[in-house]
Amino acid sequence: MSVAAEFVSDCSVVEAAEGLSDLDLTRCVADCAARERQSLAGLLGFLAEFDARDLHEPAGFDALYKYLMHHFGWSASSAFKRIQAARACRCFPELLPAIAAGDLNLSAVCALAPVLKAENLSRVLFEAARLPREELKVYVEDLRAEQAPEPGPQRPVTPFQLTLGAVIASESCGASDRTPIDPRWVPPPSPLERRAPELTSLNVKVDASFHALFARVRALCAHGPAGRDPARVLRRGLEMLLEAEEKRRFGAPRKVKRRAEVASSADAPAVVTVSQISTVPPEVTEAVVPDVVVAESGPRVSYEREHVLAAVRREVYDRDDGCCTFVGDDGHVCGSRYAVQLHHRIAWAHGGSNTPENLTLHCGPHNRLVGKRDGLGRRPPPRAPAEPRGPST
Ligand SMILES: [Zn+2]
Repeated sequence: MSVAAEFVSDCSVVEAAEGLSDLDLTRCVADCAARERQSLAGLLGFLAEFDARDLHEPAGFDALYKYLMHHFGWSASSAFKRIQAARACRCFPELLPAIAAGDLNLSAVCALAPVLKAENLSRVLFEAARLPREELKVYVEDLRAEQAPEPGPQRPVTPFQLTLGAVIASESCGASDRTPIDPRWVPPPSPLERRAPELTSLNVKVDASFHALFARVRALCAHGPAGRDPARVLRRGLEMLLEAEEKRRFGAPRKVKRRAEVASSADAPAVVTVSQISTVPPEVTEAVVPDVVVAESGPRVSYEREHVLAAVRREVYDRDDGCCTFVGDDGHVCGSRYAVQLHHRIAWAHGGSNTPENLTLHCGPHNRLVGKRDGLGRRPPPRAPAEPRGPST
């Protein structure tokens, strides 16, 4: 056992280090550094396989980085870097010995990952070994330039840098809405940002058509409540998009009748139940059907399904607060709001109904995972009709 190994699990390592000779202390530092590199290589190798098997999904997470942040306390950037490096190591396992030997560190692997190819792997491993950070940056840029395609006759579209500060600055300088802004230019904080440091900037690279559209919308909104304030215009647009998307996918919010209206109508029930809603003719229900798996083999012969009523979709969406309700093996609730879809607790193919009690929200990964566990496959392509339709009579 090495000298360092005697102390690594000892919380009094600082006191123990004080008693070491200079030679032993130097050996301890070198030994720990070597173990750290080997541990990193091992972590990346195992993490790559963990990622390939999507093992974060049964644990109740829709993304691997969330699993790593939750279980290991890593920051988002730390998790992303390790995932990127692990995926690079899965493609090129030759990276692992280089990491274990200290030729490449985590940042170097992430920097090299986009330019690594099977053809240049040996050369890059040799040339990039132990390069300082700045030199590595230049080396990666050179590799990018080597791999860049020959310039064609068409020039790429010049991106615009749309920042809230930049929009205000371009107006104050009298610049037109089509003036391209140097992407490297970072606008100074506005007086409002200086007074309110809790505000954050939103920087998005957009093309000329987006810029023109944004200018047109701002001009239209100039006399409205949002005015020409770009942040308020964007917020209003996002709120409208959110409402429209929620309505498209989960139906319109249920309208609550005022008591006076209910009391004035002798026939109107005080509470509208789902069974009453289901009497709505099918032609008034929305045709949008969430992406739900269908059995490859099951008791139902037809692949056709009844549409989930808009009111039911809305009730489920409101009840689940728009979040994935999948519970992981250790009790972790996913809670993702990303691209959630309706999920049948008892699959439609197994006789489940379209009632709110049998429906819940799942994110895409968990909808697929549960479908896989239930032995369900993806919806097969629509079959061609047996006979062509004749002319209507
Ligand atoms: Zn989920």
